[in-house]
Amino acid sequence: MLLPRRLTIPRPVLDRALARDGALRAAPAASLDSACPSSGEWLATVRDDGPMPSGVGLLWVSRLDRGAEAPAPPPFAGAALSMELQLWQSGQWQCRCLLPGLGSAWVAVPEVRVPGAGMYRLGRAWRPERPRVQGDADGDGAFSRTVGAMGGHAPLQRLRLRYAVVGSGRIGSHFGQMLAPLRPESIAFIDDDMLELSNLDAMALLGPADLGGPGAPSSPKALLLAERVLEHWPGVELRPLVLPAQAPRAVQELADADIIVTATDHDAARCVAALAAAAWHRPHLDLGALVRIGSDGRRRMWRDCRLVLPGEGLCLACWGGFSEPDELSCLLNPGQAPDRRAAPWHDGRSGSLGWLAAGTAARGMELLDRLVTGEITASTWVRDAEGEHGFLEATPLRGRGDPHCPICHLGGRGPSAFADLPALVRGVLARQRPHGTR
Ligand SMILES: [Zn+2]
Repeated sequence: MLLPRRLTIPRPVLDRALARDGALRAAPAASLDSACPSSGEWLATVRDDGPMPSGVGLLWVSRLDRGAEAPAPPPFAGAALSMELQLWQSGQWQCRCLLPGLGSAWVAVPEVRVPGAGMYRLGRAWRPERPRVQGDADGDGAFSRTVGAMGGHAPLQRLRLRYAVVGSGRIGSHFGQMLAPLRPESIAFIDDDMLELSNLDAMALLGPADLGGPGAPSSPKALLLAERVLEHWPGVELRPLVLPAQAPRAVQELADADIIVTATDHDAARCVAALAAAAWHRPHLDLGALVRIGSDGRRRMWRDCRLVLPGEGLCLACWGGFSEPDELSCLLNPGQAPDRRAAPWHDGRSGSLGWLAAGTAARGMELLDRLVTGEITASTWVRDAEGEHGFLEATPLRGRGDPHCPICHLGGRGPSAFADLPALVRGVLARQRPHGTR
C-alpha cells in the first residue's frame, strides 16, 4: 500500500464533521499510474451510508481547544487504515494515520487539501487571513495591483493550482490567456480538435500563421494554444493533450488537477469532466455560450458559467445537466472518438462571437477569484442573458438534487468511478433535462 501523502476533504464535509466531532470514511484516490501526483491521496467520502467497501479507511476529525488532549479514535475493525485529522482553534493542525502492517506507529500525512470556499491547503494556512493590501510576496511587484484588488497576497496564492482545461477553442483560449499570467502551478490543455480558418476570428493568441501554408496539415488547437501561451509566459508549466477527455491519459490529468475547467462544445467531454470532478472531489468550472437566430429573425444569446463544488452531493448533471445529451452516445462504445464531421459546429447554434467567448472566460475567472477569496461558499450558476434593456444581465440559477444521480453516486470514489463508463452514461442519459448552452 502507498503511504498516504495527502488527504482531500471537501469544505462542506469538513465543516459537517467538525460540527459533530465525528468519524468519516476515506478511500484511496489512487492512481491510474503510481507516478501521478494523485497517488498516495486519500479522499474523504461524502456519503457515509451503506456497507463498508473493502480498502476503505476510517477518518476521525476533531476540533480542539488550546492544550486539549485529542480523544483517541475508536478502534475500527476491518478498516484499511485509521486516519486522524485534528484542528486546533489556534490554527495548528495535525493529520496522521495508522497503517495495518506497520505496527502501532502513527505516520504523518503531510498535506490536507480542502477544496471549496478559500481553496485552503493545510500546511499553507488554515485560518482565513486578515486582508493585507500592501506588499507582494512575489517580490517583483508584478502582482501589486492584483494583490491589492484581491485583498492580500493569500487569495492570489491559493489560486496558484493545477488546472485541467478541456477545450482549447474560443472560450478555452481566452481563459488560458487570463489564467497563465497569474502563475498557476500548471495548466493541462485537453482537446483533440484541429485548428480551422473559421476558428481564428475569435480565438485568443492564435493567428493565420498557425494554420500553416496552403495545403499544410492542420495542427491541434491544444498544442498551438500551449505554444502561444508559453511564448508569452515562459515560466508556466503547460501540458497539451491532443486526446478526447475520456482517454485514460486525459482522465489522469483531470484527476491530478486541483480545478477542472470545461470550455468545450462537446457534451461527452463535459460529462467525463463532471464524473472526474465528482470522483476526485475537484471543483468543476463549466463555461458555455450560445447565439441563436430564431425563425422570426430575432437574435438571442446567453452564456452559462457553473462552478460546482465538491462535498455538496450535487454534480454538473444536477446543476443544469447537458445541452446536447445525444453527444454522450460516443461514450457508450469505449475507444470510439466523437465524430465531429457528423456534428457540424452550427448544429443548434447560429454562430459564435469573440466578445461573448471572452466575456464567458472572464466570468469564469471571476467565479474562481470569488472562490479563493471565500466570497463564494457554495456551488454557483450564473446565466447572462438579454434582459429588459437588451443587454446581457446576470441571473443566478440553482441546481436540483437528484437522489438517483449516477455521477453523484460515485462521488469520492476515485478511479473506480471510471470502471464502467458506458453503464454510467446510460444512467445519465436516462435522467437528463437539457439546459441550453454549449
Ligand atoms: Zn449529480
